[in-house]
Parts: sequence; structure tokens; C-alpha cells
Amino acid sequence: MIEMQDIYKTYPDGGQALRGVSVRVERNEFVYIVGPSGAGKSTFMKLIYREERPTKGTIFVNGFNLEKLKQRKIPFVRRNIGVIFQDFKLLPKMTAYENIAFAMEVIEAPSRVIKKRTQEVLELVRLKDKGNAYPNQLSGGEQQRVAIARAIVNNPTVIVADEPTGNLDPETSWGIMKLLEEINFRGATIIMATHNKDIVNTMRKRVIAIENGLIARDEQRGEYGYED
Ligand code: ADP
Ligand code: ADP
Repeated sequence: MIEMQDIYKTYPDGGQALRGVSVRVERNEFVYIVGPSGAGKSTFMKLIYREERPTKGTIFVNGFNLEKLKQRKIPFVRRNIGVIFQDFKLLPKMTAYENIAFAMEVIEAPSRVIKKRTQEVLELVRLKDKGNAYPNQLSGGEQQRVAIARAIVNNPTVIVADEPTGNLDPETSWGIMKLLEEINFRGATIIMATHNKDIVNTMRKRVIAIENGLIARDEQRGEYGYED
């Protein structure tokens, strides 16, 4: 499903974010990525959704070698990955409905399909009545649910979530985790970077710790393992 082989990432300013990372994530796994700030977690995530390219090494997603991808295959691989951010990244001038539908317009889905599927995912994230609201009219938790709906609307096989609960209070965070669990239950692979000790220690999923650009731990039913 996702495989990294000896990945190095050095940024143009010389900063080494990853220094030889090899890992395999199977279809339908739920994986937490933990580690201190600056350890390389975001870089790890960005390499998966191809926001960044490795300096060295090979990454496979769904059997596609991301480094040898033909230009015309890029959109196809991309739409199979849904991304969720700490700060939601919704488009402020679009309603909740429009933010979600837009992700389907980009891939040129037929308008009838867009209408049906957008309603469906709005219901899934329990925001059926908020489709016409703009992001600034929604709470943080509601905005993150719109972002989740947008991430899953094209039925991706992989969801990459970079600190999705980082801006939310504990109760709202648990609501988001329930949704991600449901999405995982429906078949998606989930890779989530987090500093939320409670969530990691309660859910007991696979935990990969990145420290100083290297994998320091990789445990099934792992723990957070840091004090912060
Ligand atoms: P984390 O998500 O664990 O906080 P990051 O992947 O964001 O770690 O960062 C890992 C290292 O790479 C840090 O030293 C950071 O300063 C550096 N880094 C991250 N992004 C960039 C960038 N765009 N340009 C230069 N250095 C970067
Ligand atoms: P299946 O095809 O397994 O019967 P779905 O069509 O509901 O189930 O889901 C297929 C894909 O849709 C999943 O692999 C997943 O990537 C994505 N997906 C994730 N979460 C949801 C969700 N809450 N609703 C619909 N699709 C989802």
C-alpha cells in the first residue's frame, strides 16, 4: 500500500529532515506518527501526498512508484490520497458544500454525481444542515469535519492527517477520531501525525516514532511515549 525505501530528504537550505527511513504500511492500517517537533513527521507526510519529493530513495503508493510516475498518472495517484491539516485549509469564500463539491469538480466528476456524493459525505460527517454555512460561521470541529468530508469525497484509499486535532479541544478531538475510525473501518488506510498523547494511548494502534529524521520505534498497539 505505502512503502518507503531508504528515504532521505534534505531541504534546499541544507536542513536534513529524513535520513534513511524505510517503512511499509499495509492496506487498511491505522498508523500514528509521533515524535518531537522538528523530527521530520510533516516531511514524512508530505512525501506521501507528493507535496515534497525525496532527495534519495523510493516511495510506492498503491503500487505506483512516486519517483517514476508518468505525468499523466499524477492526478490519478493524487486523488487516491485525502489530506487533512491542523488548520483545516478550507476555502473561505466557499460554503461547506462548495468546499467539498470543489474537490470533485477538480477531477471533472459529472454534476449529478457531485450533488449526490457531496450530500452523502455531508451526512457522514453529520453536517447535513450546515452545507450552506461558510467556514467562518462554523466551529473548529465543524470546519475539520468539512475538511474530512472533502478528503474522503473522491473515495481515496489513503488518508493522510497532519495533526488533525491540534487546534481542537479534547471533546471535539474525540469526535474527529471517531470519524477517522469509521473511515478506517470502511476501508481507508489512515496515517496520522499527532502530539495528542491521550488519543494515541487510548486507541492503541500502530505507532511509528520519528526522531531526528529516523524511525526510532515502530510498534503494533504502541504508545505515545513522550511527556508533552
Ligand atoms: P515535524 O513535523 O516533526 O515538526 P518537519 O518535517 O516539519 O518536522 O521538519 C523536519 C526538519 O526539516 C526541521 O529541522 C525543519 O526545520 C526542516 N524543514 C521542514 N520543512 C522545511 C522547509 N520547507 N525548508 C527547510 N527546512 C524545512
Ligand atoms: P466499499 O467500496 O468498501 O463498500 P465505500 O464505497 O464506502 O466502501 O468506501 C470505499 C472507499 O471510500 C474507502 O476505501 C475509503 O477510502 C473511502 N471512504 C472513507 N471513508 C468514507 C466514508 N466515511 N464514506 C464513504 N467513503 C469513504
